[in-house]
Amino acid sequence: GGVTLGFLGLGQMGSRMASNLLDKTDLPVVIYDTNPKSMSSLEAKGARVAASGEEVARQAHVIMTMLPATQHVQAVFGDIIIPHARKGTLLIDGSTIDPTASKALAARAKTMGLDMVDAPVSGGVGGAEAGTLTFMVGGDVQCVKKAEVSMLRHMGKKVVHCGPVGTGAIAKICNNLILGINMVGVAEAMRLGVALGMDPHILNGVVNASSGRSWVTETYNPCPTVVPSAPSSHDYQGGFASKLMQKDLGIAGDAAKVVGVPLPLGAAAQQLYTLMQVNDLGNKDFSSVYRFLEGARGS
Ligand code: NAD
Repeated sequence: GGVTLGFLGLGQMGSRMASNLLDKTDLPVVIYDTNPKSMSSLEAKGARVAASGEEVARQAHVIMTMLPATQHVQAVFGDIIIPHARKGTLLIDGSTIDPTASKALAARAKTMGLDMVDAPVSGGVGGAEAGTLTFMVGGDVQCVKKAEVSMLRHMGKKVVHCGPVGTGAIAKICNNLILGINMVGVAEAMRLGVALGMDPHILNGVVNASSGRSWVTETYNPCPTVVPSAPSSHDYQGGFASKLMQKDLGIAGDAAKVVGVPLPLGAAAQQLYTLMQVNDLGNKDFSSVYRFLEGARGS
């Protein structure tokens, strides 16, 4: 028969990505998630639900993974995909994980005759839904091309080849390091402005016409009602969970240690997102650092 596509990990991101894949390709798509609930709407759309990850590994010729964190990817690749996939299969990991782990898994896959690229994404849940994600891809040029043609172009609008395996993850954690720090900076400034008696809408308008402007101030301001479409205006629901931001800053910190690069602001931001896990903001969008700072008012 022809080519079969596989997808493992159908959470916030993966379910929406797989839905676009089903809409835009005629190839069979076989899926598996340890949480059966996450697969029912995709089954109704025509996906084949496998009984296990091993079944996906045995049936698919190209396999995408969208799993929570490094340890999940290591377990799924090590125990399920690499031992059971057919020779020549292309593995595409879209999760945000440690770049050294991606490199090690790709080397292990190679010994079994499997190709791997790391392809973390930006664009969030909205981009996954709309099929407008950006993929930052590390791997051999032929593998990156094959990943783009077989899967990624159906789920995103931009595929950037970053270099060898692991460089997709490097690009992703550097971007999220900037984003995580910037969010704290905007939250501090908005808190200060409001506490001093300024209208937050006017303040944000000034910032957006000045040198403090960023993606956060333009589209994702953490102060409620300033940007109506932002999670902050919807009780910080949806979006990018603060526990995922904490994870990504942790990856950046670990990677930085290996090469001896200091991340003073990254470390401080990571500690703030860690404190939020204790205060029940872990599953809320990371812009809820604004809420957290509200509760931590000094005298
Ligand atoms: P999620 O927790 O919603 O989804 C992960 C899914 O993996 C869950 O459905 C879970 O059941 C499944 N899973 C766990 N172990 C499994 C296993 N052994 N086999 C099969 N399925 C398994 O997370 P998410 O928000 O979709 O994020 C996934 C990845 O994408 C993360 O690395 C995250 O950092 C990254 N990311 C997320 C966003 C975002 O806005 N949510 C944006 C960019 C990147």
